Amino acid sequence: MLLSAVFVALALTSPFIIAAVSNDERTVVVVDAGHGGADGGVTGARTGAKESDLNLRVAKLLGEYLKSGGYKVVYTRHNDTMHTYAGVSNRKRADMFKRGDIINAAKPAAMVSVHMNFYSASSRRGAQVFFDRKSDRGREFANVMQDVINSELNSVGGGRKYTALSAEKYLLSCSPYPSIIVECGFLSNPIDEANLVRADYQAKLAYTLYLGVVQFLSDNAAA
Ligand SMILES: [Zn+2]
Repeated sequence: MLLSAVFVALALTSPFIIAAVSNDERTVVVVDAGHGGADGGVTGARTGAKESDLNLRVAKLLGEYLKSGGYKVVYTRHNDTMHTYAGVSNRKRADMFKRGDIINAAKPAAMVSVHMNFYSASSRRGAQVFFDRKSDRGREFANVMQDVINSELNSVGGGRKYTALSAEKYLLSCSPYPSIIVECGFLSNPIDEANLVRADYQAKLAYTLYLGVVQFLSDNAAA
């Protein structure tokens, strides 16, 4: 009788406890797919691939990995569109302001913005991370992510390592939360471009970004 009473009590209460933990205490990560809609970003030199499409694919894969890892994911866009913003006619600025509002409302432990790079010298390749120089935790996040990217992606196949750099970007400075932009590779470089348009490489890239987020957040939790 006693055992079954305990069992019934657990069965009644535990679902609520689990629900409370999974809904309210999951760490929030914002995943931003750069560009979108009329703003396609840069274009693959050989394939014509649009940066905005590649960013969205990698961002969604990153979000899936994060959700599997128990994080709550907030995306700044779900499809190929630009946001509008009341009172702001400049489309790019309106889109940025809306993304900034989404980040600030989410109060994330980390924000990752996914982009692809382009450079006049086609020899330049590899992935590089950017942060706001006024944000110590942004810098810390960027350094952790750059280290993971250097060992998992940039050192593979004859690439070069990078150092994370500061950049003046609205999405990096619009909130107090640790925020980075990852330029995932150069659509101006034949090797990077061939990799970035491939589904298996996109998954590998997204998983590498996931590892960087997990590393940064577990460093933070231990501190
Ligand atoms: Zn971009």
